[in-house]
Amino acid sequence: MQFVVRGLLGLALLGGAAYVMGDFSTSDSRNRVLVFGIDGGTWAVIEPMIEAGELPNLARFYNDGVHGEFRSRPPALSPVVWSTIFTGRLPGDHGVKDWKTSHSTHRKVKAIWEMTSDRSLKTYVFNVPSTWPAQEINGVMVSGFPLSGSTVGGNTGGVLTLDALDDRTTAAVYRLNALALRPQAVPLEVGAWSPWVKVKFPARKAAGVMKIKRLDDDSYYFSPFYRIDDELVVTYPSDLRKTQPERMGEFYIPEGPGWSLHAEADTPEYLYDHLVDVSRVQTATARGFVGDDWDLFIYVNTLVDRVSHPYWAYFQPQAFPEMDARKAAKYSEAVRNAYRETDRQLGQVLEAVGSEDFYFVVLSDHGFGASNNAKSMIGTHRFEGIYLFAGPGILGSEGPRINIEDATPAILYLLGLESAQDIAGKLPESLLSVHGPAREPIASYETLAKPGSDLPVDAATWEQLRGLGYVDGAPRRKD
Ligand SMILES: [Zn+2]
Repeated sequence: MQFVVRGLLGLALLGGAAYVMGDFSTSDSRNRVLVFGIDGGTWAVIEPMIEAGELPNLARFYNDGVHGEFRSRPPALSPVVWSTIFTGRLPGDHGVKDWKTSHSTHRKVKAIWEMTSDRSLKTYVFNVPSTWPAQEINGVMVSGFPLSGSTVGGNTGGVLTLDALDDRTTAAVYRLNALALRPQAVPLEVGAWSPWVKVKFPARKAAGVMKIKRLDDDSYYFSPFYRIDDELVVTYPSDLRKTQPERMGEFYIPEGPGWSLHAEADTPEYLYDHLVDVSRVQTATARGFVGDDWDLFIYVNTLVDRVSHPYWAYFQPQAFPEMDARKAAKYSEAVRNAYRETDRQLGQVLEAVGSEDFYFVVLSDHGFGASNNAKSMIGTHRFEGIYLFAGPGILGSEGPRINIEDATPAILYLLGLESAQDIAGKLPESLLSVHGPAREPIASYETLAKPGSDLPVDAATWEQLRGLGYVDGAPRRKD
């Protein structure tokens, strides 16, 4: 009877929109799944914090659901691993094998959002790595990194004096916007941030936003120029910002500042602040859509990863004998603060769902640990990631280790769909209490051969990856 009530409610609210009936006609009870990705999420950080009562939103599901180690595979690079997670196939099969093949166009097989779209399930995908360019699905997609052209004039930002804004040697994106930036910078107290400032770069016909922080009497941190003009398309439907401005927000930033230039020697405080700023923009957008009538909603939050790379040494100074004790103390909470912030953002997303009626899944593509290179005082990816499944019928317990490719069969099962014989992942047994034994797998979700591209990503994408500290050297082709 639940379905009748929901169906009527939907009709009443939407004035009889046809798709509401369509959604409910195929089955009389729906299984909705919300996946919240924590890129780089690590139990070694999370569990003590849950115990200390510091991550209340995660704790709710941790205590009720099954959780354990989500074993990553080499290469533990976010686009590769998230592609494995959401196809159920290994890199040799799905085609996203390294940084050079990290766009959605490199994927040769269907991701779960295509499988669900084919079955007419409403599917929303936000900020999953390796989903740019955005694909047509039965719902909404907002692409994650890596992507080309989302900033102008570099992606790390820079420290300048106000006088330098007029200097001919200063990067054009700052120099040409001196008239917009200076009035925002001048009144700032030391340590304060400006609001987002609208900026332009006429030579590229680009419009963008930037933020400024006053560092001391003379110097200011100027963020990267994040493009927000219509030429940068990061969504499906492509005109989402025009048609849904109240939900997309005034602007959207698909990837924040590159951390590599700022890491080590003396990691600046503004990097942490600014990474948080950007993740709030991303979460606000996901939150704008999460109240919709979806079947599958996936949002990957990347704040923990972006903060763990440059600040891990302060979190685990004992692993870095050369770490300055004063510095370690100054930033000792940065990594934990990223988890606190992520948990707050999760709380905002959950509040906006407006129902408790869904399975909740937390996944990370890899964990974090200290770099083995003692000179390189940063955090690096480890194979020990995290999973957590919670919802009706799932029993709270410590679960066995599962592999990253097992997520797709698990999510398909929770949705009430079959796995496929060409999916490598296995359904975790700890979920069988939900619907009983899994249905026979179908042969395949693939319908048409999809060759995928083998051409390396373009030069602008490579530049972003360099700024993020993931690659060195030049891309193999220029365009
Ligand atoms: Zn990373």
